[in-house]
This record gives sequence, C-alpha cells and structure tokens, in this order.
Amino acid sequence: MSAAIHTLCWYLHNLALEKPCLPLLGDRGGWLTTEQVEGFVETGAGLLYASGLRPGSLVVLPAGRTVNTVLALLCLQRIGAVAVLIDPREEPERALAACVPVLSVPVCLEAGGDILRPTLLLTRGGDGAPLRLPLVSSGCTPAPLYDDPNAPAFYIFTSGSSGRKKAVILSQGNLVSNLLDSAPLGGYSEDDIALGALPLDHVFGLALLTGAVVLRHRLYLTAASAPEELLQIIAREKITRMNGVPSLYLAMAKKAWADEARTLRVGYIGGAPWTAEQFQHIESALGMTLVPVYGMSECIGISCASYRSSQAARMAGVGPFYPANRGKIVREDGAEALPGEEGEVCVCGPMRMLGYHDPEQSAQAIDTDGFLHTGDLGCVDASGVLHLTGRKKDIIIRNGVNLSPRRIEEALLAQPGVRAAAVVGLPDKVYGELPWAAVVYVGNSLSRVMDGLSEYLPKNELPEGILRLDALPMTGSGKPDKPAVKELIQQWRKA
Ligand code: AMP
Repeated sequence: MSAAIHTLCWYLHNLALEKPCLPLLGDRGGWLTTEQVEGFVETGAGLLYASGLRPGSLVVLPAGRTVNTVLALLCLQRIGAVAVLIDPREEPERALAACVPVLSVPVCLEAGGDILRPTLLLTRGGDGAPLRLPLVSSGCTPAPLYDDPNAPAFYIFTSGSSGRKKAVILSQGNLVSNLLDSAPLGGYSEDDIALGALPLDHVFGLALLTGAVVLRHRLYLTAASAPEELLQIIAREKITRMNGVPSLYLAMAKKAWADEARTLRVGYIGGAPWTAEQFQHIESALGMTLVPVYGMSECIGISCASYRSSQAARMAGVGPFYPANRGKIVREDGAEALPGEEGEVCVCGPMRMLGYHDPEQSAQAIDTDGFLHTGDLGCVDASGVLHLTGRKKDIIIRNGVNLSPRRIEEALLAQPGVRAAAVVGLPDKVYGELPWAAVVYVGNSLSRVMDGLSEYLPKNELPEGILRLDALPMTGSGKPDKPAVKELIQQWRKA
C-alpha cells in the first residue's frame, strides 16, 4: 500500500483546517466550503450519537445526489455507523427485501432542509414521524471521532444485472486506497470540479465523493441524467472531470456541441464494454481524455489505464492492475494463466470488499488466499494490460456449447446504425438455450444487421431474433438490465 489510510472525516478535518474557504460540495442549491461541510458533519454526528447510534449501527440511507445526502453520509461515517445505501427511488423495505438473504435494518436516515439549513430525518422501526435533527443547532456534545478506516462503513448492493442482489460490505479504507492509487493515473488536479451524476449507492458514484474529500477537489452533485441537461451543467459549473459508463458518454457525445463540453478534461470510463470506434468518437466529440477503469461493487478498483498514455494504449484493454492490488488470471483447470491466456480475473488487496453480508456468499467468492474471484474472464498481455473477454457466468449454453453474449454484442455494435445491444439466452426445448438480442438501431433494415452479423459470427452464435427498442432498460448504475431485457424479449415473442 502506497500511503497510510485514514477515515474520510480525518481527511475532511485536515482539509477544513488548511483550506477552510475552498468550495467542496455543490448542487443546485449552491456550494458549501470545507469549513461549512465539517461544521455540519460535526453537529450531525453529535446529534446522531446522542440519539443512540453507535459504531457498527446499520442505518438505511436513500442515496440521493444532493449535498445534504452527502452530509448525512459523512455524519454516519464520523461516528462509525454503517450506511446501507439504497436507490432513493425505492422504498427502503422493498430495496432490502430484494437482497438475498433479506436484510432487516430498522433505522432509516434521510437528508432534508436546504443547503444552508440541512436537516437529518431519523426514523426507527417504522414508529411514525421521523425525528428532525437540524444541523445548524448549536450546543450539542461532539461525538467521539471514529478512527478505524478498516471497519464496515457501507453496504451497497450489486447491480442486480445478473439476478438477485447481494449486499456488499465496504470499509472507508477500501474507498480511500482506491483514490490514493488512482490519483497519479487519473490526471487529477486541485482545481478540478467533478460531476457527481452517478448514483451514490454505486461504487463508481461513491468514488467521486471520496475523490473530493481525499484529493481535495470540488464535487457538483446532480440527479440529472439527460445528456442535454448534463452538458448544460458542465458548461455552467465549468466541470473538468466525471465518471461514467459508456452509454452516458455516448449519449453526451451525440448531443455535444463543442462549447458545452469545453471545460471537460478527463473522465473515467468503466462499468461496461465499449468499442474502439465508440472510444474515439467520445474523445473527439467531447474533446476530453478517457481513462478506462475496471472495477466492481466487490472491489472498487481492479485495473486502470493512465491518462498520460496515448489513445491507442488507453484503448487497448482496461489498463494494468492497480499498484496496491495483486491480480491474477486463473484458468479453468485452476492453474495461473500465462500472458495472453484467458481465465477468471482474481484480485486481492486493500480495495477488496470486507465480504458479503452473507458469509456463505463471501466464502464462495473469496478464496483462502484472499483473492476475490470476480466472475469476469480476461487475459493479461505481455505488457501487463488486462483485457476483459466476457463473464464466466454470463454464458448461453446452446446444445452444450458455451456462447459469450459479449462477443455477440460486440458483433452487433460493429453493424452500422446499432447504438446499443444486449444479448440474453432464452430457454429452448431442443437446444437448451438460444441467444436473443435487443438493440437500439437507427437504420431502417434489421435484416441488414442480421446479414452483417453472419459475416462476423458462426451460425450457432447468430441471435434467433432481434428486438428493436428505443432504449435498453438500464440498471441504476447505467448498465443494460439483462433480466428486464429477457422479459421484454419474452413478451415480444409471445405477442
Ligand atoms: P457492478 O458491481 O455493478 O459495478 O458491476 C461490475 C461488473 O461490470 C464487472 O464485474 C464487469 O463485468 C463489468 N465491468 C466493470 N468495468 C468494466 C469495463 N471497464 N469493461 C467491461 N466491463 C466492465
């Protein structure tokens, strides 16, 4: 590990001492300086402690993209309570029930008030009206400063793109070590103004928050997701960096007119695959440098390219393993793969989750040497760059032959007019499973797409049918929602 790891509130405290007037967190209500953020967090932590919360208490927090939600999150971290982060559009009970095993957390914290008069709303066990805790109140006894960066700090839920959700437990140290390793690769600067347009209940969004506090740059939070709106915010707030999945950048690149995105310098791109053509198109349309990253809920950062490398080098794969992580590729026979050989990506290090809420799930995913088996397939080339090739479990078994949906999706994306593609396997009486596709297509002949595909793919990989959609259903973190795609294709087949 390159540097000592501390808690988020330790970094916040030092930042507020050194740069009290630096604007740190902003949203459409305005900006708060580091001193204001720290003041509110200290008061809120004192009030939460006085209300009975203690280190280790689990508290559900609907993770809206507002400054006041971030204050609530930091208040919990300040006293060592554990934030169970859920999508704010979901009812807490429903969100917890969607997880296996079902989680029961009777305490819920919500952020209210405006940016200069933030209020925490604490509800216990569904017992009626929430307790209002105004963060401007003075005279509350400060809570003891919690200083263990390696204890459980956040519960987040895996995106659910491959079935039911699992609760992942992360520490503050997981997040902080990712930031410290990321800094030299990600082209950060203290003048940065980052766009916080990703859900804070996802690691890619959480990383933005820790970036602001640990690497000392501004973060502007917004619930906006429409590309036009994001581009307006980028122009108005002079945003210089962002994190995003390929579909977000592509939507922005489609709408961009050079002036709107002029201030954008760097963006992490990850979460889903992209093609070389898309990568080049985004960089030239938005005039920015993309930095490929690969990570997951269970391990915030696994690999990362460097913003200093040429476009060709950045585009080739998802970069080398982060310096603090140890990574390896394990072949199907259990042996470690040689350079260029495909196998499962396994990773171990300070960014790896503490475990799942369910110890049995942890034992299945983390081996006795501490390596997380990611379920992703890839290979490392002779220069140490990781290339992702598919998902171990996301396979379609046709007549006993494993087909990779990713390979079929890449072939679809290579067809003129295909903007997005998702391939799923549907049951078939004869073959066991067959591939079916859903696409966003702007051309006028889907049969031309099918003809084009047959030049790329062997016959058994050709989709049985292609459903045309205006947009693919997406998970909260912006990836194709495969169960929802399956459902749509099944309805289409019945109709
Ligand atoms: P989540 O836990 O929802 O963040 O999903 C993590 C999964 O997203 C990984 O296991 C990969 O399958 C996929 N993923 C993440 N980053 C990339 C990337 N750069 N390229 C392709 N797939 C990615």
